[in-house]
Amino acid sequence: MMLETHNLSKNFGSIRAVQQMNLQIPEGSVFGILGPNGSGKSTTLGMVLGVVTPSEGSFSWFGKGDDHHVRREIGAILERPIFYPAFTAVQNLKVTAKIKGVGQERIDECLKLVGLFDRRHSKFKTYSLGMKQRLAIAAAMLPDPKVLILDEPTNGLDPTGIAEIRELIKDIARGGKTIVLASHLLDEVQKVCTEFCVLRSGKLIYQGPVSETGESLQRTTVDLAAGDQALDEVLKRIDLVESFTKMPDGHYRAEVAGECTAADLNKVLFDQGIVLSYLHTHRQSLEEKFLEILKNQA
Ligand code: ADP
Ligand code: MG
Repeated sequence: MMLETHNLSKNFGSIRAVQQMNLQIPEGSVFGILGPNGSGKSTTLGMVLGVVTPSEGSFSWFGKGDDHHVRREIGAILERPIFYPAFTAVQNLKVTAKIKGVGQERIDECLKLVGLFDRRHSKFKTYSLGMKQRLAIAAAMLPDPKVLILDEPTNGLDPTGIAEIRELIKDIARGGKTIVLASHLLDEVQKVCTEFCVLRSGKLIYQGPVSETGESLQRTTVDLAAGDQALDEVLKRIDLVESFTKMPDGHYRAEVAGECTAADLNKVLFDQGIVLSYLHTHRQSLEEKFLEILKNQA
């Protein structure tokens, strides 16, 4: 694992900002930490970056615990970093390189990576917000870290800036970096991440994969009936049906494999001698699933 936390917790006085967090972030993933404002995302990132002292629990980077050598492998943007307004991108990155104690040989490469090479001699104050954020990512990438940590990287950007940052994150991931991204935006996590977890009131309440299309998070539910015929036995036998319940109105509600269509199910049932009198398919999106996760944990 790239990062594991064990019962990681943080209290600010009586506020339990993060409670008994057990996170596993695999190497090579674009890992989303999704949660509403105040759910503990930034506090969690602050702890694993060594800027917030945990009240309880521990964490381990690269299976090696938490020591200073390990921190060099981690690039992070927690808030918008401060650059000198009258300096160009190149001048600012030279300052960053000095502060971080790394060489200047990667400056051009990092500027190309974030799409600012052509504007490298423009002053920082002439940059759009999106360009400023991309320069911050370039600065974080200067030491060639194994992991890049981003806290709400698209906050305050216009739609073009948002799209550029999301593409950049995917590019960096394709280059072999692990990325940890905190966001309160469901669609951001869906578009950018390969795995995600959900935080609510400081607690980890869900962790799972996001497929490229979000498909694996789509759940298909089918409501069906065949007159007042009991379908329990046949539904138990069918592989396409993962689980089912009988509703108060006598209809059955079945959870089916994600790719299964109403026609598939109808055909399999017909082959079993069942003629349906009612069939209704409902696909649950990631958004509905997220809302359901939050509701069930209330
Ligand atoms: P998120 O990043 O998900 O919006 P935070 O981690 O910033 O959430 O905050 C989690 C909770 O901890 C919130 O209730 C917030 O008000 C509180 N909190 C965060 N930092 C501090 C701090 N330095 N002092 C007191 N309370 C804090
Ligand atoms: Mg935050």
